[in-house]
Amino acid sequence: MGRVISLRQVGFSYDDGAWALTGLDLDVDRGELVGVLGPNGSGKSTLLKIVDGLLAPQEGVVRLNGRPVSDYSRAELAREVAMVGQESHFRFSFSALEVVLMGRFPYLGRFQFEGERDMEVARDAMEATHCLYLARRSIHELSGGEKQRVMIARALAQEPSMVLLDEPTSFLDLRFKKEVFDLIRALTHERGLGVLVATHDIDLAAAYCDRLVLLKSGRIHTTGIPEEVITASHMEAVYECTVSVDRNPKTGSPRVTLV
Ligand code: ADP
Ligand code: MG
Repeated sequence: MGRVISLRQVGFSYDDGAWALTGLDLDVDRGELVGVLGPNGSGKSTLLKIVDGLLAPQEGVVRLNGRPVSDYSRAELAREVAMVGQESHFRFSFSALEVVLMGRFPYLGRFQFEGERDMEVARDAMEATHCLYLARRSIHELSGGEKQRVMIARALAQEPSMVLLDEPTSFLDLRFKKEVFDLIRALTHERGLGVLVATHDIDLAAAYCDRLVLLKSGRIHTTGIPEEVITASHMEAVYECTVSVDRNPKTGSPRVTLV
């Protein structure tokens, strides 16, 4: 089991000077799906952007496949780390296949068009995410759930070792939420990816993730397997509301209910 990323004592602050993240230690191995939980403003997106190399921490070090992220060029990083957001907006009416092919940009030279291998990788990614039948459709016509599958296919087309998903299920209905989590878990394990998913779908994260990280005000409040992290006392301390935690009667995974 190789380690994909490791963060040591990472601290980051935006212009205002307050620490958005501080003292953060985190490792993700190949084939590991790690959920990032925490209230709005707790630092989830900041953490993902640091791993993606979009933000450079003022403190600590982030290693990707053993090498400091700060040593990577932008194109090198894009071949190793892929990000899927909450929602994607496209100015032009690209086809789903064109969107997935954008994942190949970090592999192309300047003025170089996609070749046969890029097409193969794109098609494989769309098959794996069950959206090949959407290849010719305009990205603008797709439903939220279909679009997220295309965005995950684009991430896979980058052939990354690390995938970051920032609240990928926020705008999806129940069925599509489950579909996205089914998909990311299967891909994590089958392809040996390291995956970080920030989410407010706590019950789903508890059911699907190998490990959870619970953030509060830019610090790790608790981390561990879902059963260790999802307890009433941790939830109440971090989300500042009263909850009860029991087990999903069918799956046994922790379940949070507001009281
Ligand atoms: P989350 O994704 O958990 O909601 P964020 O990582 O977006 O949290 O935000 C963490 C903290 O950093 C918050 O206090 C937020 O206000 C602040 N923050 C986020 N983005 C910026 C920015 N671009 N400029 C200044 N402060 C920011
Ligand atoms: Mg966020």
